[in-house]
Amino acid sequence: MNAKEYTREILRLIRQTSPGQEEFYQAATEVFESLVPLLEEEHRYREHSILERIILPERTIIFRVTWMDDSGKIQTNLGYRVQFNSALGPYKGGLRFHPTVTLGIVKFLGFEQIFKNALTNLQIGGGKGGSNFDPKGKSDSEIMRFCQAFMNELHRHIGHTRDVPAGDIGVGAREIGYLFGQYKLLTANFEGIVTGKGIGWGGSFGRKEATGYGSVYFAEHHLNRHDMELKGKRCAVSGAGNVAIYTIEKLHSMGATPITCSDSRGTIHHPKGIDVKTLKAIKEVGRESLEKYAQLHPDATYIPLHKYPEGGHATWSIPCDIAFPSATQNELTIVDAKNLVNNGCKLVNEGANMPTTPDAIDYLREHGVLFSPGKAANAGGVAVSQLEMAQNASMQRWSFAEVDTRLFGIMKSIFDTAYETSKEFGDEGNLIMGANIAGFRRAADAMIDMGAV
Ligand code: GLU
Repeated sequence: MNAKEYTREILRLIRQTSPGQEEFYQAATEVFESLVPLLEEEHRYREHSILERIILPERTIIFRVTWMDDSGKIQTNLGYRVQFNSALGPYKGGLRFHPTVTLGIVKFLGFEQIFKNALTNLQIGGGKGGSNFDPKGKSDSEIMRFCQAFMNELHRHIGHTRDVPAGDIGVGAREIGYLFGQYKLLTANFEGIVTGKGIGWGGSFGRKEATGYGSVYFAEHHLNRHDMELKGKRCAVSGAGNVAIYTIEKLHSMGATPITCSDSRGTIHHPKGIDVKTLKAIKEVGRESLEKYAQLHPDATYIPLHKYPEGGHATWSIPCDIAFPSATQNELTIVDAKNLVNNGCKLVNEGANMPTTPDAIDYLREHGVLFSPGKAANAGGVAVSQLEMAQNASMQRWSFAEVDTRLFGIMKSIFDTAYETSKEFGDEGNLIMGANIAGFRRAADAMIDMGAV
């Protein structure tokens, strides 16, 4: 069996043994396809059954979360923590609270996290968790009771050298506070068992901004390699959560113009540039719909979801130089890719995890659009999470400038690693292949050193 057939065979077995996990197969297929040139050259990964092992989570925890809503009714949700791979350090990855969360979604995210975390060159393994709990429309006390109930089970499985969760979609500073508080109550220990903590109680300066800022730094490094820069570019950004907000903020400071943002109900198009203050007030403070943005800025247009073109999204039909998909998985489709190409887009830089569908990626690359894969471009968040862990462990606190300087350097090093690796394997500039091989090689080499575990 050649390397290609071998990877296909493992993927086929995974489909058979864990049915119905489409996003997980999508993520695994992309990684395994990228690895073919490496497997052809280096036989030890096959000899040590690395693919057979890395595709299986070391541990999967699924639990019932029982909590009481404001009317006194008992509610139930499913909770997950997938501890995917600890070859490089404690499991590290966020928690997602969203109605679409299933085991397949958590596994796709946890699998991506292994390679993303390896790429940062820091000591962190890969994991992910979450719940199908829908925070939308819930009161603050319902959110608190849910987080407490979630931690009632999760606390037995995490620890600052074991597994360190953080935020993701639906889990921000507020939820991290409630989760940490309940852990402390249950264990009587004040430890860095989550990241994204409040600045006053163990959090790191710059963590909140890190994924968005890091994504913009990555885009700049990528453009520079091709003799371009962000300055003066029109940038379309999707999403209005933590990643999108700080992508938009950093784009302004780099002299670019972020012209869009979006939420689950619609897109805002503001040609003169999205006003970050208004966006933060609506999303971080008020937790309201983006419709309000257009009321406050009459020169901006609100395009409701139902006006999206067939199979595509309004955000990507607006002409831009650079696209920053920063909302969720599979949000940029083939229809969107065609629009972006027609409008002369030069770079798609993934702020979210796996936001571009495989056929859209192929189309973009075939048409000469540069592509920054999420597991490289959005690794700034988890990288600064590791800096938070380092500060907690040494009982130190670094300044915002110190963290931001390190983040800039980490993003440069991730870009260089992915780029150089793509060159090494004969497809210069293919950062998907470069990031997958570089991340895999680091985790896999550690697994080989540690024997058959
Ligand atoms: N959820 C983020 C990610 O997708 C951050 C994880 C973390 O900070 O641990 O990488």
